[in-house]
Amino acid sequence: MIIGGGDIAFDYALSASEKCNDVTLIYRSTIKALPVLVDEVMAKGIKIVQGEVEKIENGVAYTSAGIFEFDEVLAGIGRIPNVEIVEGISDARIFVIGDAKNGIYRQSSLAIADGIRTAMKIWRVMKYGDTE
Ligand SMILES: Cc1cc2nc3c(=O)[nH]c(=O)nc-3n(C[C@H](O)[C@H](O)[C@H](O)COP(=O)(O)OP(=O)(O)OC[C@H]3O[C@@H](n4cnc5c(N)ncnc54)[C@H](O)[C@@H]3O)c2cc1C
Repeated sequence: MIIGGGDIAFDYALSASEKCNDVTLIYRSTIKALPVLVDEVMAKGIKIVQGEVEKIENGVAYTSAGIFEFDEVLAGIGRIPNVEIVEGISDARIFVIGDAKNGIYRQSSLAIADGIRTAMKIWRVMKYGDTE
């Protein structure tokens, strides 16, 4: 069983469908995943149910859309960057990259690009004393 209506939940559903015969995805309000992911999930015959999960206990999900038994559950219901340790700190030696700074634009390629740019920046700071 997959919980969530975003890209991650739909991605989880597709991955799960490669190993499990019976995958159900439950989303609470609206489907926010990319249409291409939704199409793929539907093409695989994954069940999509609208409902809110109220409680999960002993392999059973109690939801507003009914009761579902499951072997495994994966929740893709939001990610909050773990940035408390650097929040509010003003120090030119601290660089924040990737998901922690990219808001809703969370992609590996953006994180990698941030990392490369930051490494180059640090090198210039050390070599030439750049301040920007
Ligand atoms: C299911 C799923 C599917 C995805 N699919 C795609 C895709 O198809 N294509 C794509 O481009 N992107 C995809 N993404 C997004 C992509 O994974 C992220 O954008 C990318 O991993 C961001 O890299 P990052 O280095 O910023 O953060 P992360 O990869 O999240 O790395 C952060 C690291 O910091 C560690 N950490 C956190 N707090 C601390 C701490 N206090 N001390 C030490 N370490 C700490 C974490 O354990 C983690 O290892 C997907 C994400 C998910 C969850």
